[in-house]
Amino acid sequence: MNEYESCVDVLIVGAGPAGLMMATCLAKYGIEARIIDKRGTKIFNGQADGLQCRTLEIFDSLGFGHRAWRESNHMLEICLWNPDDEGVIRRSDRIPDTIPGISRFQQVVLHQGRIERFFLDAIAESGGHAVERGVLPIELSIDEALVDDQNAYPIKVKLRHLSEEEATPQQSATSANGAAIQDGLFRSNMSADDTQEILEASKLNAKANREEVVKAKYMLGADGAHSWVRNQLGFKLEGDSTDYIWGVLDIVPITNFPDIRMRCAIHSAKSGSVMIIPRENKLVRLYIQLTVTEKVGEAGAKADRSKINPDVILQSAQRIMAPYRITYRKLDWWTAYQIGQRVGINFSAHERVFLAGDAVHTHSPKAGQGMNVSMQDAYNLAWKVASVVKGHSDRSILKTYQSERRKIANDLIDFDAKFSRLFSGRPAKDVMDAEGISMAEFEEAFEKGNMFASGIAVHYGASTIVAKDGSTRDQGDGTDVSVSTRFRVVSDQKLAPGIPVGKRMNSVKVLNQSDARPWHFQELLPSNGRWRLVVFTGDITQPARRAKLESIGKLLADSSSFLQRFTPPESRHDAVFEVLAVHRSPRAALEIFDFPEVFRAFDEVDGWDYTKIYADDVSYHEGFGDIYGSFGISPEGCAVIIRPDQYVSYVGPMEDVDALNKFFSGFMVPQGRSGRALDGDSQMGEV
Ligand code: FAD
Repeated sequence: MNEYESCVDVLIVGAGPAGLMMATCLAKYGIEARIIDKRGTKIFNGQADGLQCRTLEIFDSLGFGHRAWRESNHMLEICLWNPDDEGVIRRSDRIPDTIPGISRFQQVVLHQGRIERFFLDAIAESGGHAVERGVLPIELSIDEALVDDQNAYPIKVKLRHLSEEEATPQQSATSANGAAIQDGLFRSNMSADDTQEILEASKLNAKANREEVVKAKYMLGADGAHSWVRNQLGFKLEGDSTDYIWGVLDIVPITNFPDIRMRCAIHSAKSGSVMIIPRENKLVRLYIQLTVTEKVGEAGAKADRSKINPDVILQSAQRIMAPYRITYRKLDWWTAYQIGQRVGINFSAHERVFLAGDAVHTHSPKAGQGMNVSMQDAYNLAWKVASVVKGHSDRSILKTYQSERRKIANDLIDFDAKFSRLFSGRPAKDVMDAEGISMAEFEEAFEKGNMFASGIAVHYGASTIVAKDGSTRDQGDGTDVSVSTRFRVVSDQKLAPGIPVGKRMNSVKVLNQSDARPWHFQELLPSNGRWRLVVFTGDITQPARRAKLESIGKLLADSSSFLQRFTPPESRHDAVFEVLAVHRSPRAALEIFDFPEVFRAFDEVDGWDYTKIYADDVSYHEGFGDIYGSFGISPEGCAVIIRPDQYVSYVGPMEDVDALNKFFSGFMVPQGRSGRALDGDSQMGEV
């Protein structure tokens, strides 16, 4: 066997949604990353399909939100069906699928294969390395002596390249007419992991003849629920498996059920539940609880997947949906799974090898969360790793990955456990029926769960990069993400109650000062790895505010400001921080030259920067965003720091540039632009 050796900044194992998100972001941020997957091809149909509104916001920031929005099926209403007094199912309620007003997007569905395609295209457009398929890691070691050295490559991984045959998952290929149908059983939790099998086979196969050694600064294990990387680290998932078994069918239905194009939750009196998800291209996904007769083995035991097939799943749906009839001619994909809820204890080893997605949290797919949360894990991690690899931030920020995302995973597991119990249970016959599920409770949980399921509720706790009150040790696992008291800054939330520190920046429209074009505020925050300082200046036709603005301009331009100290001298003025202004004066009363130069930097080649100054004013064609009114921004103005992933780090008085300097000094690395060290410079991770 030949052995090759090479180095890379980041090695990503697994090209599912989490791994692809990481690879896309790193390609956009200009970090060299390799991404490998043991499978020979991407997914083409089936698997996950629900996209939360927060995920669409992220896709938009990556430049492909419009593709998902256009191709997907939009889900606007949920219909709840329950048994009446005679036990016949009836529509009992309708609720909006996405809570109105929480985002500029609403929940949509599109199969995972298309979503993976968007990522692959984005990686190629950004000049990243293509996914290396049919490659799997076989050995992993971490040199602990090197983990704190910012520039070291402490991770060593041996990779094996597989033949095409080894990299292709086996399909059960069952269909009424004998045609091959894609199933997702090889990825279901009802199948044993096949990594070991592939490894054994590859040893015997003459074509699997290449091994190589890769040294990496950082590594991401995004290799799904059976994660090889997690196992190598010796990390465990905590939690349980339930004995609820669910089947999934993607069909073009033929039915007289009236709400087949709505998202529906149907509870039958005695035959279990079904969830209907209307999909793109006339497809409909049915999530069906399989009743005891289809199960084999003891309750709580692993079900025998060979006893579950599309006909069994359809018959179950027919019983639940009776007296309505449902069948199909076209079956696109199917799978089955047993609900289990587990979460990882550790999300990283030495802040060098990280785990994301199903590798650290598994749960039922019905609430449409797994793919979204998996991608959001990687989205949270990618900018932090990029910033450290570039030498902009010290390694202390990497601890916030576990403190922020483990809490979300725990919340997700709690949500899923509650949702699954309510969904899988039998409806109560009356108030005395303690074992049955109260339909009123189900509806209430469903409505409340909608906020969580949108992804908008994510609220990160206090840390080095979230300046708010509260313990930096209260994030659920004791990870210490505190900053030295010398650099501690606390936000003044009352200056903008609608821009909560720790939550993602919400969006309404603002007008570009130079050309009057309306932009959604979030469109000004593309995912390019940069921090934003947004100065809400108030009405600067007022002399007092104008004077404040002039003073901020001077302080930011000074060599002691964070802007000058932490931007590398050879980089563009906005390579690390973008400084934006949003004013509340009539747009026509001002010009960009009324603003200090830091808001409209001059470049010898490009001239003035016209993209940084915005007015909160009425547009010609798209109404009035009223960002000051919508977010309760004080007429005195305020300064807001927004992280590269659109989460708000800080809200404070607009004139307090000292606080901004302190905040960034807590974790950023001076770049020598000002040519001198300053009092109180960051002590690289000192606490
Ligand atoms: P995966 O998607 O499992 O990807 C892991 C990748 O790693 C795979 O490509 C695999 O080939 C590769 N890999 C594994 N081991 C190795 C190895 N040793 N070496 C190299 N490569 C390896 N989520 C939602 O958000 N919305 C939904 O609507 C939804 N519906 C679902 C419906 C069903 C039927 C199922 C089964 C799941 C659903 N989910 C849904 C969950 C979602 O599919 C997962 O949570 C998501 O795919 C996890 O992404 P991931 O990248 O972490 O892992």
